[in-house]
Amino acid sequence: MRQIPSALLATTALAATLAVPALNPTAPRPTGTARHGDSRPATSPPPDTRERTDAPAPHPTGSKTGTKTGTTARETSSAPPPRSPTRSPRAPSAALPSGPCALPGAFPGTLTGVSEAAATPRGFTRANGRVRALTVLVDFPDVRAGISPRARYGEFFPAVPRFFRQSSYGRLDYRSTPVLKWIRMSRPLASYDIGRGTSFNPASKNGYYAVAKEIVRAVDRDVDFRAFDLVNVLVTPNAGPPATKNVWSVTFSGGPLGLRTGDGTQLRNVSFIWSRQTGPSAYRVLNHENAHSFGLPDLYFTDGRADPHPVGHWDPMDVDWGPENDFLGWHKWKLGWLAPDQVDCVSRPGSVTTHRLTPAAAPGGTKIAVIPVSRYRAYVVEARRTGPLDPTACRPGVLVYRVSTDTPSGRGPVRVADATPKSAGCYRKDPNVRAGLTDATYRPGQTFRAAGITLSVLEDSSSGISNTSNASDTFRVRITTPKRR
Ligand SMILES: [Zn+2]
Repeated sequence: MRQIPSALLATTALAATLAVPALNPTAPRPTGTARHGDSRPATSPPPDTRERTDAPAPHPTGSKTGTKTGTTARETSSAPPPRSPTRSPRAPSAALPSGPCALPGAFPGTLTGVSEAAATPRGFTRANGRVRALTVLVDFPDVRAGISPRARYGEFFPAVPRFFRQSSYGRLDYRSTPVLKWIRMSRPLASYDIGRGTSFNPASKNGYYAVAKEIVRAVDRDVDFRAFDLVNVLVTPNAGPPATKNVWSVTFSGGPLGLRTGDGTQLRNVSFIWSRQTGPSAYRVLNHENAHSFGLPDLYFTDGRADPHPVGHWDPMDVDWGPENDFLGWHKWKLGWLAPDQVDCVSRPGSVTTHRLTPAAAPGGTKIAVIPVSRYRAYVVEARRTGPLDPTACRPGVLVYRVSTDTPSGRGPVRVADATPKSAGCYRKDPNVRAGLTDATYRPGQTFRAAGITLSVLEDSSSGISNTSNASDTFRVRITTPKRR
């Protein structure tokens, strides 16, 4: 169920030279071709009975503050807990997917439940408006942190919320409240028996349940867990294997984990971050893990195949290391980051329609056209151009991909169609980027055909004018749908 960092199959030799990233977070990070993704929940969700009998807890309301006493609050000056439930006044209102293009999920009742379904099951964390994260730091008696809590925290904040704010066009107002001290576990690291794929199992004395129990005990007096939507555990970066060798980072999301805090809150939607990713935006492993708490699946293949990246740098749920990369438009829609008029639903059989798409990097305009081809599958079309979150979008154009809500996480629920299958890609200078798909976009004059659909790119309105994105910078496409499906 978990990704074997495809990694290391091909790059064992390199891994040795990459092994231990510098502890100083400001030091240059090693780069290399070592591949690693991260892991996803996986395992050991709580027993079905518990899941069903445990009524979904409401999201905390604003009458609570993030902490019970001043102890933690004083330590959280960099990100004070919100005092009211109101959304940031700047955040545009969110809209969740609806209509014939909002594909249903095919896995009702699965506990982890991450999928490409347009609607996200209850139990996950809402991904729009104000979302409150509790962030704690952990080390071990035999693997003590060599850096300050603030330094480790600074590897992820404020970058993680900034990334979410930018990618969501201001709709996700993510606030983290840290407990800025190292919470030392009671036993040596190895005694917890943690590795890639370790479960959160209340019946076990080891694994993530044991770690989480100690965390809760350490902070329970000072933290009101009811005030938080999700929990981040940043492990000291010298514990466990380097991310270039094996990625332990993991999220347990979608339902109660079987661990109750002193204030009666069921712990849920918890991410553990280990080691350090390579490349200039290593913080994105936390964006990736938090996105599991928002319900998104892993896009990389977990079956150990030679090329496990069917989407590549077009979404952080496939690749979350190296240069930044924006979320796919389908994910933005699912997470409530697009307004209804930013989605063109092309569901009428036998239709010929034209659409103007603005690049993901531009805040306004139509972001995706969705063409359903079956109950659980659709082709999605969007424009991508070089931008702050899309430095690797080296061939401005129209990205076409198939979304399958009946394909599980880790089995390729999204597949990008490559307009230039024989090309080695246009962004080849960075070993952290799987280059092959970087020029997958369709350019004016090119046509994509599948499942009776014909999609032609008619025009790039910015050709030759500017290389930056704005709302008037559009790609015009014509979509012909099959007479029946
Ligand atoms: Zn993942």
